[in-house]
Amino acid sequence: MAAADMHHRTAEFRQLFTKVLTQMQQFIGTANDVVILSSSGTGAMEAAVSNLTSPGDRVLVLSAGKFGERWTSVAKAFSCVPEVVSAPYGSTVSVEEVKAKLTPDIRVLFMQATETSTGVRHDVSGIAKLLKGSDTLLVVDAITGLGTTHLDTDADGIDLIIGGSQKALMVPPGLSYLAASGRAWKRMEQSKHSRYYFDLPKERKNQVKGESAYTPSVALIAAFGAALDYLEAQGGGDLPAARRLLIDSAERCAAMTRAAVQALGLKLFATASPAAAVTAVKAPAGADSTDVVKRLKSDFGAVIANGQGEMKGQLFRIAHLGYFDYMDTISLIGALEHVISAIAPSSNYELGSALAAAQRVFADSARQTQAAAR
Ligand SMILES: *Cc1c(COP(=O)(O)O)cnc(C)c1O
Repeated sequence: MAAADMHHRTAEFRQLFTKVLTQMQQFIGTANDVVILSSSGTGAMEAAVSNLTSPGDRVLVLSAGKFGERWTSVAKAFSCVPEVVSAPYGSTVSVEEVKAKLTPDIRVLFMQATETSTGVRHDVSGIAKLLKGSDTLLVVDAITGLGTTHLDTDADGIDLIIGGSQKALMVPPGLSYLAASGRAWKRMEQSKHSRYYFDLPKERKNQVKGESAYTPSVALIAAFGAALDYLEAQGGGDLPAARRLLIDSAERCAAMTRAAVQALGLKLFATASPAAAVTAVKAPAGADSTDVVKRLKSDFGAVIANGQGEMKGQLFRIAHLGYFDYMDTISLIGALEHVISAIAPSSNYELGSALAAAQRVFADSARQTQAAAR
């Protein structure tokens, strides 16, 4: 980020930006053009709505948590008429339920890959298959999905996929990025919304030349470059391979965590379709999850998240994205054993039982990886 003294209308910056945009395509796993915006993730969600729709458009929102609800709010803010397929917090929506609400006049379907507020994974591929051959565009908020979930953007035909700097890419907050399909770029030409700053075709025109329409966040783009170089090195110079390793690591840490918390007698908040980005766990009976979050911080310096909105106090969320790996997961689980026995003294487990459960998951996963390599 010390490269922030670079002027953005120079060959030096164009070279950096062009390299980052190419690496970003490999990180997402797409041949579609990528655009980086100077905003948090919600800015890219808004840009998707304002560029792909027109006032009065009927859209379908898949909603099972705070971020699904955000799609509905943004769609309404741009005078779209959202139809909502919803599931209770902690659950996902079935493909059949989506199919039942999908009529040919639906212009865009908006969904999350992973609903970070509840720790749920949605079936992106299953829903993408429903849309094949129709005029309905598929927009996926993969802000915590990218780098934690195996997504096949081009084969599934995801028309617009969104990521954010502060999630699996391990960069400070402040940038969002997206990749849009040929169909999506065409649809943008028809949009009747007025827009100025978040004008995606205008950004694309500039970014293919290594420029951005307005002053870019040079420091954060340099940080993207460093993060993507770091990942690429982990994949032996192969960024798509590095992405797969990163995702496998998140999946493994999530599986370790699920086994561990259940060994402590705790219940998962998302049972049927848990995400690998984050594991949401119900607070011990009679306890407040705020105490779990506070004690992990005060006693162990470990940071986890509380429930969001009305879920605050009911659940806590453990992240697996980005640099969180085996070492972080094991130490967090060790600390959690102490915290839960302090907060819920009636909970009945031997110290080390959650660690043992996590260790077994890791050992099985390592054995499978070795067998696959053989
Ligand atoms: C973090 C996140 C966002 C974006 O939130 P910002 O605060 O705007 O960066 C959107 N969707 C999901 C699923 C997220 O996890």
